[in-house]
Amino acid sequence: MKLNPRTWKAVVFDFDGTLAQLNLDFPMMRAAVRKLPLCRAIPEEKLANLMTIEMIEAAGLFIAEQNEQDALRFLNEAYRLLTDIEIEAAHNGKLFPGTRMLLAELKRRAIKTGIVTRNCRAAVEILFPDSTLYADATVTRNEARNVKPHPGHIWEVLELLGVPQTDAVMVGDHPMDITSAKQAGSCAVGVLTGSADAKSLYDAGADMVLKDASELLGLI
Ligand SMILES: [Mg+2]
Repeated sequence: MKLNPRTWKAVVFDFDGTLAQLNLDFPMMRAAVRKLPLCRAIPEEKLANLMTIEMIEAAGLFIAEQNEQDALRFLNEAYRLLTDIEIEAAHNGKLFPGTRMLLAELKRRAIKTGIVTRNCRAAVEILFPDSTLYADATVTRNEARNVKPHPGHIWEVLELLGVPQTDAVMVGDHPMDITSAKQAGSCAVGVLTGSADAKSLYDAGADMVLKDASELLGLI
């Protein structure tokens, strides 16, 4: 892990709250999945403190203990519901005004760029239809073998970029982005354009916290 920004060879960005306006209501999404008939029957202690994706997976395993067909049906319904909510939010969202300029400038400086997101591919394409012109690789929930906070999500995009984790920085608005980056062996930069404040990003282990992702250009 290289703390000097001038040695970074790749920047991996989170999407919602970092490159695009965060308008996903995570508690509402979790509650909507929780209301699905097959999920409603599961005791809360089995699912407590889990974020939506992890809750869906845990509920799927719980249901599969009784009936594997029900579990498959639940997983299909839950991910469809999640995707529908994400797509609707994407239609109401927008990229931050500086995002394309930031990515284009990093490319001009020969720095690889990647995007890792727990959001679905369809939502990213609605908000950023020309992302392949700007970012070298994007790994959404649909392609990831593991999603953040698993560090494997960051390793997957870095493998596509051909850059070792020690030469990369992860930029994100959520403490989870910071802890994933640290576990992956990369630097971590927090940004204040999402839901978290500077203290919670530093508490998660951020090497620095910026007002927004475009401020990176002053460091690299
Ligand atoms: Mg985010």
